[in-house]
Formats: sequence, structure tokens, C-alpha cells
Amino acid sequence: MVHREASEDLRARGDSGLSGLIRHGFGLKKEVSEAIGSDYQSDVVEWFRNHDHFGRFGEVEVHLAREFGFCYGVDKAIDFAYQTRRRFPDRRIFLTAEIIHNPGVNQRLRELGVQFLAGRYRGEFSYDDLRPEDIVILPAFGATVEEIAQLRERGCTLVDTTCGSVIHVWKRVEKYAQDGFTAVIHGKYSHEETRATSSRVLQFPGGHYLIVRDKKQTQLVCEFIRGKAPAEVLVEKLGKGMSPGFEPARHLVRIGVANQTTMLSSESLEIASMLRAALAERYGEEHIDEHFRSFDTICSATQDRQDAIHELGRKGMDLILVIGGFNSSNTTHLIEIASRYTRAYHIEDASDLISANEIRHKRWDRQEPERATDWLPAKRPLRVGITGGASTPNRSIGQTILRLLDLCGVSPRFAEAK
Ligand code: SF4
Repeated sequence: MVHREASEDLRARGDSGLSGLIRHGFGLKKEVSEAIGSDYQSDVVEWFRNHDHFGRFGEVEVHLAREFGFCYGVDKAIDFAYQTRRRFPDRRIFLTAEIIHNPGVNQRLRELGVQFLAGRYRGEFSYDDLRPEDIVILPAFGATVEEIAQLRERGCTLVDTTCGSVIHVWKRVEKYAQDGFTAVIHGKYSHEETRATSSRVLQFPGGHYLIVRDKKQTQLVCEFIRGKAPAEVLVEKLGKGMSPGFEPARHLVRIGVANQTTMLSSESLEIASMLRAALAERYGEEHIDEHFRSFDTICSATQDRQDAIHELGRKGMDLILVIGGFNSSNTTHLIEIASRYTRAYHIEDASDLISANEIRHKRWDRQEPERATDWLPAKRPLRVGITGGASTPNRSIGQTILRLLDLCGVSPRFAEAK
């Protein structure tokens, strides 16, 4: 089975004979830490950390969330990517897709000569162009079983940066498939992580999955389970998130729920309980264990950042800025939460604060960014909350704080900070 092979950690056999799948870096952590710090760290953010996440600048208060920015999985992925570049200065190095969902980080890796095989940063090369001496980095979200099989066929050395929390979800859905349960995954079917997770299920005979994006889609599944919606409607609405050969009548009898690690945790819990209620109604509470399983697979970093934005919201901000890639799932959920409390904007970096009147931002329920005016409240004193997603460098957060204060006409005390 491809998965079994991929989970082996075949270590380096010397530079020329290097092959296999490397999961533990190259022992160069110290050597690359300075470069990583210089690319992504921020003295401004350090200043806030040393001042209880709070600064008052004239009549402007800035509150930095308790938990923000790079998570442990992103730290590891970036560290491995930099180590790989350092270890193989002369080799061709590729990424199967964005290493994480942050444009600044992906751009920096491009500058370091890493080439992308897919996605919006894709260069001139495809899988067919790969040679055995090439190095391919798998991103923090992981890669599908098929992608890994293709890469192994070409004989490339794989540097696997898949986050441990993602692998935890894989184990969960694999167990569901082994036990004859369909994996219902709360996630986005086009997201790299969910594609990788769902592909695990298909390694097992009879393994199936169904991806639901939100409560609305789950409601439809529940109606089908209760016999109140026809299978055709389900296939029409959710077909893109179904495994090949999925038959609702056969494959929604025994289900196990899991989530993409970066979803809104409260919604994931509701989705699980909606499905449980529908199955209990259909098959009886006394038989529920034969039909339903659930494990919350939201990662702790996602949960911590969501808790911290709630805390910020409850403090009563006039404005919240959420910084991170527009395609970052966990960042999108932070803005969704922040918007419940106050005026809130999701921006990618400081350059999106175009002027005191104009901002470029993305609403959590829209696909594309847009421009808005009158975003910066004139009221004083002004309380501004700041956070960044799990893939947002501190550098972006620090630069945003400086830009904000500048637009407010305030001179920060940390003038020497970058
Ligand atoms: S958000 Fe969670 S699952 Fe994703 S890389 Fe970070 S720690 Fe891992």
C-alpha cells in the first residue's frame, strides 16, 4: 500500500544515493534560524509580547491577540524548507503546492530557488519533468496518496513537512474506512489538506468519503438520512465532495465525522451533533454506536487562535484587523469570528491599508478581495485589535501595526523597531 511505504522514514544514504522520504530535517536547524528570523520576525511584535500584548500611542490603543501568527506546524514546514535549501544548494528543489497559505512566505521560497509544481505559483515544470536527483518538499497540509505515488515512481527524494496534526486526522479517517464507516469531513473539498485527507480513505476496499463545507450542506445530508431528501439532490449539491462511486443510500448508513484542522471549531461540533441526531432518529438511539463516530480533529493552534480572537472581541474593540493570506482557511475563520463583535477587516499585509480612507480586504463569505472606504474610525480614543492567522509571519503583523499608527497620525514609541 502506498501509504505504508510513504510512512517509512528512509534516511539519507549519502548525498549521491539520497532517496526516500525524509521527515526530520537535516540537522541544520541552528544554521537556518538566523535566515528565518531575518525573513519573518518582527521587533514590533516582540515589543508587544514584552508589554502584555498592549500599547497605548497617543489616543490609539493597540491590543495584540494572546495567540497569533505561525503555529508549530508552519514553523516546522518553513524550517524544513530552509534546511533543504541549505543542504542541497545545487539541486533542483520543488514544492507540490504552496507550503502554507501565505503569499509572502511562498514568494520568499521562490526567491530561494524553490519551484512550485502546482497552484498559483506554478512555474514551468510538472511532475513529468522530475528526475531522480530532484528534491520535492511536501507542504504542511500534506499531499494526496496519488501525488506521493507519482513522486516515488519518479524516484525523487521527498522532504515531508506534513503537520503532525494533519497526520492525526489521516489516522482517524483511515480507521473509519477500515471499520466500514464513511468519513464525513467538515472541510473545503478544494483545500489541499482535505484533498490529502480524503485520499487516505480510498486506500481501503470499500472506503468512501463525503465532504461538507458547512451546516447548510450538513442539513441536506441529515434530511437525506431522515428520508426527507432524495439522493439526486444530495449528489447534485455535494457531488464534488463525494468519493468516486459514492451512493448515498449505501454510504450514509455508518458514518464517522472528522474535520479539516483549520475549520471553525464551534461549527464542527454542531455538524457532528446534527449528523448524530439524524442517525439516531433513523436507526434508534440504542443503535447509534453502530452508525455514528466522531472525533474533533481541529488542531490546538487553530483552537487557541479562535479563543484569542473571541477574547479580543469581548474586550470591546472599535476595529479589528486580521492579517493573513486571503486563501488561508484558519485566517478566514478568525475574521468570521471577529466580524461578530465589531467592524473587522481581513488584509494580507500592511500594503492593504492603502490610506486612512481606503482599504483592500476580503470578507469571510466572499471569494475575492475588494476595496472599501471609511474603514478607519475617526473616534478617539480608538481601540484596535490585531491578530494574524497560523500562517502569518510576525513581520507582516508588525508592519501592519506601524502602518496603522502612521495612518492614525501617531508616532510609535518603538521607532527603532522594524
Ligand atoms: S494550523 Fe494546525 S494543522 Fe495546520 S499546520 Fe498549523 S498546527 Fe498544523
